[in-house]
This record gives sequence, structure tokens and C-alpha cells, in this order.
Amino acid sequence: MKLILIFVLFFSSSGCNNVDNKKNYSFDEELYTCSKCGSFLYNSKDFLYENESSKDFKISFSEKVTYDLNSLDKKNKTPLFCKICNKKLGNFIKGDSTTNQERHCVDKNSIILKKIMK
Ligand SMILES: [Zn+2]
Repeated sequence: MKLILIFVLFFSSSGCNNVDNKKNYSFDEELYTCSKCGSFLYNSKDFLYENESSKDFKISFSEKVTYDLNSLDKKNKTPLFCKICNKKLGNFIKGDSTTNQERHCVDKNSIILKKIMK
């Protein structure tokens, strides 16, 4: 009988403890996922700027997007795709020789912002 009582005490005191701390959580990371397959593509740390229709990033998570550098157009632009589901995300822009800054210009409706708590 004593043993059962100990178990009851143990279970009633474990779990569900820190529920009230929820409002103190901070979002450590903001990540962008593919709107079609949910694959993690971009970190908000790599965000450059945005306009009405797109967001630009310096770099994606490695091996998550794909583009063909052999098919750059005159503006150094080539279509950018999700590597997992092949959805067209926007355009990859290779920097010119002076800035050498590559950009991933992603349509806003191709990615979804996810806030990650640690
Ligand atoms: Zn995808």
C-alpha cells in the first residue's frame, strides 16, 4: 500500500510543471521552409532584403536548393528550385565581378516562416 502511494505522489508531481513559463520563451531562430514540401531552406540570419514579391538571401542551407550555373541569363540570373520537391522558388543571381555577392531571390509565396524555440 505504501508503494502505491509513492507512485501516485511521483506521477502527480512529474510533468506539466513549467507550463506557466511559456510566455518567457524566446524565438531563437527564424527559418524559412518550402511552401510545398516543408523542407528547411533559409535562415533569417542570411536574409538580405525584400520587396513586394520576394525576399533575398545570401545563402541557403547547404544542399537544399538547386540551380544551374550554366544557364545564367544576361542578368546573371537562373531559376532556383527546391532540391527535395523541385518547386520553383525564385531566381539565383550570381554577383557581378565587382561585388561578387550571390543572391537567392525567393518568391514570398514559395517559403513559409517558422519560428523555432530551443
Ligand atoms: Zn520543396
